Amino acid sequence: MGDKQNGLSRREAIAIAASGAVVAGLPGSASAKEAGQTVDVIIVGAGFAGLSAARELRRAGKSVVVLEADERVGGRTKAATLAGETIDIGGQWVGPTQTHLLALAKDYGVRVVPQYADGENIIDIAGRMARYRGETPGLADEDLAEFGAAVLQLETMAARLPVPRPWLAPEAPELDALTVESWLLVNVPGKPARELFRALIRAVMSSESADVSLLALLSYMASAGGLEALIATRGGAQDSLFEGSVWSIASKIAAELGGAVVLGAPVSRIEQDAKGVTATSAKGVWRGARVIVTAPPAMAARIAYAPPLPARRDGLTQRMPLGNVIKVALAYDRPFWREQGLSGLVISDKTEFGPWFDRGTSLTKGGALVGFFDGAPARRWADRTPAERRARVLDDLAEYFGEAARHPVDYVEEVWTLAPFQRGGYVSVPGPGVLTGFGSALLDPVGRIHWAGTETADAWVGYIDGAIRSGERAAKEVAGAP
Ligand SMILES: Cc1cc2nc3c(=O)[nH]c(=O)nc-3n(C[C@H](O)[C@H](O)[C@H](O)COP(=O)(O)OP(=O)(O)OC[C@H]3O[C@@H](n4cnc5c(N)ncnc54)[C@H](O)[C@@H]3O)c2cc1C
Repeated sequence: MGDKQNGLSRREAIAIAASGAVVAGLPGSASAKEAGQTVDVIIVGAGFAGLSAARELRRAGKSVVVLEADERVGGRTKAATLAGETIDIGGQWVGPTQTHLLALAKDYGVRVVPQYADGENIIDIAGRMARYRGETPGLADEDLAEFGAAVLQLETMAARLPVPRPWLAPEAPELDALTVESWLLVNVPGKPARELFRALIRAVMSSESADVSLLALLSYMASAGGLEALIATRGGAQDSLFEGSVWSIASKIAAELGGAVVLGAPVSRIEQDAKGVTATSAKGVWRGARVIVTAPPAMAARIAYAPPLPARRDGLTQRMPLGNVIKVALAYDRPFWREQGLSGLVISDKTEFGPWFDRGTSLTKGGALVGFFDGAPARRWADRTPAERRARVLDDLAEYFGEAARHPVDYVEEVWTLAPFQRGGYVSVPGPGVLTGFGSALLDPVGRIHWAGTETADAWVGYIDGAIRSGERAAKEVAGAP
């Protein structure tokens, strides 16, 4: 079942030339041998969706090539070194219902470790700071009651939606006409509960509540099994993390795929004809029966398509931006916050940086914290200098943990909004009218082009688990196609 990596046959060369591929115009770095390989399925993107699709297709006996724009695999997951140890500076956590990621971790021997959650959390919302234990946010009683009632309302609406096609619900147009913010303004009048919601939307979607359609939030909740699953540590999406990095799983899958993964190969053009598809990249031209595009819609829009994509698909990609996020990890010689009885978790609407969490001493010597600039704070800080961001992070940490927070032994950050082939994270965020107007184009193949990526998942949209599910689904779609 090895890939057909021999040079271009005369017949294939004629087919590619006939379909208009600009072989002659390829950069000089593309060797004649590279330019023009033929496989059953071309996969664009070596994130978890692309790698999972390739793995499944190989198992089904198909030949594949995975063309990755970046010089590394992993996409929105990435390893970094903090105080000499490997950590994740992209996606990192896994929850108990994220069964596809847990299964992959097991297959590749990467151990899962619980997120540290002992001690008290800090909440500082609408000018009131409190310490609390467990998962129920430490708001004042009346604010908590208002927050709880609003969560219940949202959960009830979310439970009625058909995932992954929420636009098919009879109430979808009404829900998709609102932003989360416009719903909050009417349904959550109290400032503390409303500000907490805004902070949580930032934390789970890297977006402002005014950017997100209510239907999009509800279907995001439904795909995860509810809001609590999204925001909780124990039993939720932040339950556990990986020894070393989750990225190492992507790296191991890529190693298994060997020469089928081509790095530094941004696909610039996809052409299809009656017999197949042709993908043009900086590393050569590939011909296949089908192509799976796993880049998120806004990045997939940077590829030229011939014939042009249908109006609905192009319209979708014009309207589905990625969220804004900067991730920061800091190492200390000891976890001094634990000595103060704190878990390390802080949710605040006062600081620019946040939320942040303990990264876990079972994973790092000494102590480590990890946190985010999400949504509007990420927009404000992405174009500042690393030194300015570091100073702001240290000020914000010192606000709650004291002066010791100002003296990390190491600091690493990733400005995802600037990453050339990701340009944001954690997920693409539909505003009002997008899912009802264009949603079907997320999933519906266009001839020989199939779409995958976490945005297209049937569960855990926005998460690594969803990316894996989407890759496996697209592989089945393609394997069953003529
Ligand atoms: C800071 C951060 C924290 C996160 N935290 C978590 C977490 O704790 N848990 C969790 O489950 N998820 C988390 N996520 C989300 C998770 O990382 C993503 O949902 C998941 O990795 C998406 O995988 P994917 O394969 O769908 O897309 P991607 O990983 O984006 O893969 C798409 C790939 O396509 C490539 N590409 C783009 N354009 C082209 C082109 N023209 N030609 C070739 N290749 C191209 C990209 O370089 C990329 O490698 C986080 C994300 C970020 C950014």
